[in-house]
Amino acid sequence: MTLVAELSALVPGATVLPEGERAAPYERDESGLGRYPPQAVVLARSVDDVVAVLRYSREKRLPVVPRGAGTGKSGGALAERGGIVLSLEKMDRIVEVSRADMVCVVQPGVVLETLQKAVEEQRLFYPPDPNSQAMCSIGGNLAHNAGGPRAVKYGVTSNYVLALEAVLPDGTVVRTGHRSWKGVAGYDLTHLLVGSEGTLAVITEATLKLIPLPRRVETLLAVFPDEDAAAGAVQAIFDAGLLPRACELFDGPTMRAVGPRAPFKFPDGVGGALLIEHDGHGDGVTEELARSGELCTSQGALEVLAAQDEAQRRKLWETRRMVSVALTDIRPFKISEDVAVPRGQLIEMIRAVRRIGEKHGFPTASYGHAGDGNLHVNLLFRGADERARGEAAIDEVIETAIRLGGTITGEHGVGLAKRRFLRKEQGEAVVALQKRLKRAFDPDDLLNPGKIFP
Ligand SMILES: Cc1cc2nc3c(=O)[nH]c(=O)nc-3n(C[C@H](O)[C@H](O)[C@H](O)COP(=O)(O)OP(=O)(O)OC[C@H]3O[C@@H](n4cnc5c(N)ncnc54)[C@H](O)[C@@H]3O)c2cc1C
Repeated sequence: MTLVAELSALVPGATVLPEGERAAPYERDESGLGRYPPQAVVLARSVDDVVAVLRYSREKRLPVVPRGAGTGKSGGALAERGGIVLSLEKMDRIVEVSRADMVCVVQPGVVLETLQKAVEEQRLFYPPDPNSQAMCSIGGNLAHNAGGPRAVKYGVTSNYVLALEAVLPDGTVVRTGHRSWKGVAGYDLTHLLVGSEGTLAVITEATLKLIPLPRRVETLLAVFPDEDAAAGAVQAIFDAGLLPRACELFDGPTMRAVGPRAPFKFPDGVGGALLIEHDGHGDGVTEELARSGELCTSQGALEVLAAQDEAQRRKLWETRRMVSVALTDIRPFKISEDVAVPRGQLIEMIRAVRRIGEKHGFPTASYGHAGDGNLHVNLLFRGADERARGEAAIDEVIETAIRLGGTITGEHGVGLAKRRFLRKEQGEAVVALQKRLKRAFDPDDLLNPGKIFP
């Protein structure tokens, strides 16, 4: 029997796609690392399907690559070594939303935005907000410990995970954690699985913590003559004891790219900007936003635009959402990295990126979640032939982030893209310890092999 026939017999409820046209969407993700055709794709519909595929993988010594929505930016869902792509997208049920316990129970294929809307209808809030929220799945968010603009105040995915159901590479189903908000029994396996990039187990259900939905959200955009002034305002806002729920910074090149497309006309001479959002439950929110605005002005802001209603708030956020596309107006290709540094090193990181770009002959643009030091650094270039030179510049960017006390990836994960840098950040002993953990879970190295480790 062929692989596809065997799998179809094994998981009769699931959809099994052979290598070829129908499986083509599963050959790639959003990393830009190219196409890696799997030998088969299984769209699981139940935990039993997942168990059957993992047991089969062990028996036949075939790699299995778990997959959510394929929006990952580090190549984690690519079948680099062939084998089976195990898609969880059809396991997309919100099992329960409990107001009494302030938790929800979800299958991994639920799209993040669908979950957010469902809980918000009950005046509850699930804060993690990667910008891919309209497409990405909870399973992928858990595997990458995704974060977004709101992480500065509310933390990332792991801060909301109470319990998991997962299938180990040998097909054993385990339940880790607890439904209660508190609990410390045993090793914290739940948070070992979160962020493990699909290399230790396949997550089949998650119990997530919910908090009350803030009743008020207020937003401003402050534009500055340069990014130094914008970064100075970030420090001033935190020094003043304020904690915005989003604090997004844009450097000069980013603002010059966004300007012609933006829904607002920026004043002449704009060379940096901050998008600040405060939330809460009463009038204090307006006061906090006003105070952030004053601090921006005192740090040299040319203009501060505060949204007066929800429509204006959305427009301000459009400025942030259009950045990626606007950068292609400068140069059609880019290499994009998501380093993070301690907040106090933000401006040094932006300056270093500029110097590295100049040295290698590339324009650069940096923007991102300034509140938690997570910058999206872009090298812009004209054609694919420049990419190799760009890679050398990226090595220097990543080394700078490490030297400044930061990390090679603030949110996109290591996957294939960053594995050659892991040792540089963490050192031999920590990488070796993680590899021992990997072997304890997956002695045959069949679950998402080749990811994370150099
Ligand atoms: C436009 C855009 C904006 C983005 N913005 C952000 C952002 O702000 N913040 C951020 O953190 N990320 C961002 N990302 C990256 C990406 O969306 C996130 O990493 C997301 O969490 C991936 O989810 P996914 O469902 O697409 O996972 P996939 O890409 O399918 O998989 C990602 C990883 O998770 C593993 N995996 C998937 N499901 C499971 C499962 N059930 N069990 C075990 N392992 C599993 C895969 O093996 C892979 O290693 C962005 C991406 C795009 C395209």
